[in-house]
Amino acid sequence: MRDLLVAAQTEESDCSREQTKAEQDVDQVRQRAARDQKRLDTGAVTSPKDLENLQREITSLAKRQGDLEDVVLEVMERRESAQERVAELTERVGAVQGKIDDATARREAAFEGIDGDVATATKEREVVSATVPADLLKLYDKLRGQQGGIGAAKLHQRTCQGCRQELAITDINEIRAAAPDTVVRCENCGRILVRTSESGL
Ligand SMILES: [Zn+2]
Repeated sequence: MRDLLVAAQTEESDCSREQTKAEQDVDQVRQRAARDQKRLDTGAVTSPKDLENLQREITSLAKRQGDLEDVVLEVMERRESAQERVAELTERVGAVQGKIDDATARREAAFEGIDGDVATATKEREVVSATVPADLLKLYDKLRGQQGGIGAAKLHQRTCQGCRQELAITDINEIRAAAPDTVVRCENCGRILVRTSESGL
């Protein structure tokens, strides 16, 4: 659409130049006819042959002026329709640009929202991790890196929620015997297991 707009603008300026040129042509012919008419009116030309020639030239200049004025009108019409096209295309390009700006602004706002969520989550994680012993945090981060972002999982009904494997009865017995602050891990995936009242122990 921008190409069409540029084409219409080019045509408009071409027409503008053509119009100026045609108007200058009309002026020249008009001035020459006026000069001839003046010579005729002053009576300076007396020979019948010269008078006839002068009359003939004035007549032909009048016809020429009429033709040139038609050219001016035709160029003006073309220029007007080019101007209309420029106006219409400018509006359409503006509308499309408006939609693009709108979408860009919405995308920027969405990015800002996501950045905000990440910042909040990062802060929350910092607060929580400050309460976790350093060696446990280190183990958690290592497991998280190895296990697709999940380093710890709930033990629910004797099943590790990380790998969805039910633990062997011997493992369950060990976990049951472990002190509450002991770090217990899944025998299958190695994730830290979080014990709850629904762990089935
Ligand atoms: Zn597991």
